Amino acid sequence: MKLLEERIRKDGIVRAGNVLKVDSFLNHQMDIELINEMGKEFKRLFADEQIDRILTVEASGIGIACIVAQYFGVPVVFAKKSQTKNIDGDVYSSKVESFTHGRIYDVMVSKKYIHEGDRVLLIDDFLANGCALLGLLEICEEAKAHVVGAGICVEKGFQQGGDLIRERGIHLESLAIVDAMDSQTGAITFREQ
Ligand code: 5GP
Repeated sequence: MKLLEERIRKDGIVRAGNVLKVDSFLNHQMDIELINEMGKEFKRLFADEQIDRILTVEASGIGIACIVAQYFGVPVVFAKKSQTKNIDGDVYSSKVESFTHGRIYDVMVSKKYIHEGDRVLLIDDFLANGCALLGLLEICEEAKAHVVGAGICVEKGFQQGGDLIRERGIHLESLAIVDAMDSQTGAITFREQ
């Protein structure tokens, strides 16, 4: 998606350790006009699919998923990152290793909000090593829900996540794929799509 690539080039900051900061328009301050366009694009890319709900993971996926969901007219469910007293009854859960924080945490979804046979679209901001998406896939498997596909804003194509998800036959759509980035020069190379 050219609009997103241009914005990443303009405002994205390449940090050491393969981290791309997009705090000024996606991860801290959010450019709603841009995210709206991303929502329209996901709707176009998954136009043929019947979708019952969107599943994401807190925190940075939530705002994006909510805007995207308006184009599909479905609810958003977000996986919570730790057991809280607010979540009652049984949960589906999975362990996820955080790329940005380097620690392992549990993600969980109440059994009330994801059901057998649900057609689920996964949405997240970044795809790096794939742990977050694999965790959501595991939750859907446990729930016997059907994953229709995964929509990602920024895939870092030089990390393994994209391959792992595609190898599983999941319909993965990434709006921008970064094939290389250099923290010294700030240069970013996008994959032609
Ligand atoms: P994965 O689980 O695929 O390794 O990493 C995906 C998760 O880590 C995303 O939910 C995102 O929040 C975070 N993440 C991974 N790489 C980056 C990055 O380069 N920049 C930012 N802002 N977040 C990232």
